[in-house]
Amino acid sequence: KEDVLRKPDWLKIKLNTNESYTGLKKMMREKNLHTVCEEARCPNIHECWAERRTATFMILGDTCTRACRFCAVKTGLPTELDWKEPERVADSVQLMNLKHVVVTAVARDDLKDGGAAIFAETVRAIRRKNPFTSIEVLPSDMGGKEENLRMLMDAKPDILNHNIETVRRMTPRVRARAKYDRSLEFLRRAKEMQPNIPTKSSLMVGLGETWEEILEVMDDLRANHIDIMTIGQYLQPTKGHLKVEKYYSPDEFKELQQIAISKGFSHCEAGPLVRSSYHADEQVSAAAKH
Ligand code: SF4
Ligand code: SF4
Repeated sequence: KEDVLRKPDWLKIKLNTNESYTGLKKMMREKNLHTVCEEARCPNIHECWAERRTATFMILGDTCTRACRFCAVKTGLPTELDWKEPERVADSVQLMNLKHVVVTAVARDDLKDGGAAIFAETVRAIRRKNPFTSIEVLPSDMGGKEENLRMLMDAKPDILNHNIETVRRMTPRVRARAKYDRSLEFLRRAKEMQPNIPTKSSLMVGLGETWEEILEVMDDLRANHIDIMTIGQYLQPTKGHLKVEKYYSPDEFKELQQIAISKGFSHCEAGPLVRSSYHADEQVSAAAKH
């Protein structure tokens, strides 16, 4: 008996790489920078880097203090705390000529501020060198401490994104240490601190949740004033990670997107290959109109 679901055709796409992409990869290594685009072997990398001029940097090292069961980032005790990292990220944004940049970080539960100071400095450094680039931040809950979130919001990113990842019932199994209600509270507080900065959250589907539970996530996000939602298919990064329980069809994603918009989100991106940062450039203007 085959216990692994077969990947449907709409997920079998070839990585389209070219010379400029190879050059950018080389620059990342030289600057000792990490991108989610590469680490997660994201299938959208060509479209994002070359056509849309978007990329997702992962700061504060490449080792996470948590071990979420869907995530391929390595777990351990991080050693890196590099105050020069913000400038290097800012330089790379300039070299890549990015229109929109997403900055995320591993969870640094080893640090009192959860990495918030370097995170905030990265936003400022990018802004100084790239005044026309929109900046989206995608932090962990930074220990759930209000002062850490405030430090980040004071740097005035263009979008605050924090992923709910999965439905309430499955959170303890899927996410390490993070809590469903704490994530909602994190997003609600961010909005209270800076009402003009749009908030955003992403959900992965295919982990065994029900349709009803997905709609409940939408309601919970709207009840906490989240503006933008993305919904994408969970893909198992290695055999040691959680199995895919269901592949949603493109039509099902379309339906979810329509439901989300009817529930009041200003923008919802939903599709098999949608990632938290996919088409993020469009969401800035959509949220601004809201
Ligand atoms: Fe990078 Fe996100 Fe684009 Fe994937 S969707 S290539 S992670 S910016
Ligand atoms: Fe991956 Fe983030 Fe979980 Fe760390 S906290 S394991 S980086 S999803």
